[in-house]
Amino acid sequence: MEERFIDENLTLSHFSNIIFVVCPQCNERAEVRTEECKNFKLVCEKCGLVRKKENPFYIYNRIRNDITEDIFETSLWLQKNYKGNVFWATNYKHLEYLKRYIQAKVRERKREPQINDIKNATMASRLPQFIKSNKNREGLLKVIEYLKEK
Ligand SMILES: [Zn+2]
Repeated sequence: MEERFIDENLTLSHFSNIIFVVCPQCNERAEVRTEECKNFKLVCEKCGLVRKKENPFYIYNRIRNDITEDIFETSLWLQKNYKGNVFWATNYKHLEYLKRYIQAKVRERKREPQINDIKNATMASRLPQFIKSNKNREGLLKVIEYLKEK
């Protein structure tokens, strides 16, 4: 188990080019893919559904209320209630990053003063308290294993 997590200064947008969602047609796992933050495509390999949307505005956070992808208004595939909170991830890469954060006993942030603003907005720095809390470590790691197998 990795003891140390170093914040790679990644923001949620680094994990948003592919978002796993529940297919609105067959309820299996579909993907919302993004090109240049303005062309959005929902693709389901199970039933063949393809939907396209354009959005001219840059959207920082497309996850609404921790459970819904905002462009197609479909539920996130990787989500689970945990003690009254919703634990969620956009895709397996995001899930793996969260796992590394949660299992680490030491969490560090890179020291790069020239990009202070960006640093303050990293995904890891914005995580809710129940994810940061050490007492939830074992429970959340089980949630992650459950979501990986889903
Ligand atoms: Zn489908």
